Amino acid sequence: MHLKNPLTLQNKGYVFFDSETMKTFISFLMNQAELIAAHKKGESSYVFRAAENVDEVILDYPRTIQPLKKFFLPPRETLLNFNLEENDFDVPDMETKKRIFFGVHSYELQAIHILDYNFKRGNPESNYLKKREESLFIGISYTPDEYHFGKSVGLEIEKTEGMCLYIEPMEAGYYMFVVDDNGLKLLTEFSSETVALKTETIKPQPKEFQKKIKYHYNRLPQVFDKVYDSSVWKKVSEKCVGCGTCNLLCPTCYCFDVRDEIELDTINGKRERFWDGCMLNTFAEAAGGENFRDKLHNRTRHRLFRKFKYITEHSGELSCVGCGRCTSFCPANISIIDIINNLIEEVSLNS
Ligand code: SF4
Ligand code: SF4
Repeated sequence: MHLKNPLTLQNKGYVFFDSETMKTFISFLMNQAELIAAHKKGESSYVFRAAENVDEVILDYPRTIQPLKKFFLPPRETLLNFNLEENDFDVPDMETKKRIFFGVHSYELQAIHILDYNFKRGNPESNYLKKREESLFIGISYTPDEYHFGKSVGLEIEKTEGMCLYIEPMEAGYYMFVVDDNGLKLLTEFSSETVALKTETIKPQPKEFQKKIKYHYNRLPQVFDKVYDSSVWKKVSEKCVGCGTCNLLCPTCYCFDVRDEIELDTINGKRERFWDGCMLNTFAEAAGGENFRDKLHNRTRHRLFRKFKYITEHSGELSCVGCGRCTSFCPANISIIDIINNLIEEVSLNS
């Protein structure tokens, strides 16, 4: 299988912003739409939330705790309200509002692209797709830390597909690349005049990924053809506590559970959906008390196969974007890169 080749930096030219101009531009964006950006949470964590104060918007961060998917597939969402007495229900209005997602890393956009694929297939998932409408994304470069491995899954830092603008921070300010017409329109409205885009080649500082998968990403589906019965799954599960954090924080995981909650009056209620994850013991529980994956090693294998085989076989793309969340937030220090490299070692020893 040859995977789809991700594009890298596509742009129509750039302008240069010093730090003050960047702040003014962020304020301008806040007046155009709801601006979602990274903000500090506690000492060393980051979250995406609506910007209220330009000085709190963070441009340099490794990753947020929760991915952008929370804005399109909320952790908890009411699907319908019902009345058992009248045997009736209504579907809550789905508000759509223009939102600009500012300072987004390339792996986050690739994850949205993967969610779009999954939610458009078969019966399109209207709640997700409605919330996706009117979204603009302004990307930004990042410096890989010990958990990022985008390049190993074919994803360059400068991949701009799906973005309207892309920011490359420099010592004295920022290069603002125009990726599409929406980006050019924003810049033109900001400066109130025709924007003269520079097109001379610039060379941003090269950024190296510290962590790498041993094989080229095109070879990973073949590795997963051979590792269903690998001993690696049991070794990993000896450390795993089955908390599901790796699923719930993964930007490409989209499984959910649906529950009916009845109010104390026993008449009114609502149907809600919640994020769910295949690493949780209850995920594969079925009526009659059966559980298709009651062992942790089966759940670990399933999680990895969903990222590198099952969905890849019909989408042609890996479902892991190398964000490193599952590793950096795992309470048992289980590294997805180590799992894959151990599988590769086993395959190469046996071939
Ligand atoms: S986050 Fe770590 S400990 Fe928790 S389920 Fe995932 S691999 Fe296991
Ligand atoms: S599997 Fe891990 S590294 Fe890959 S996209 Fe999900 S959270 Fe990120």
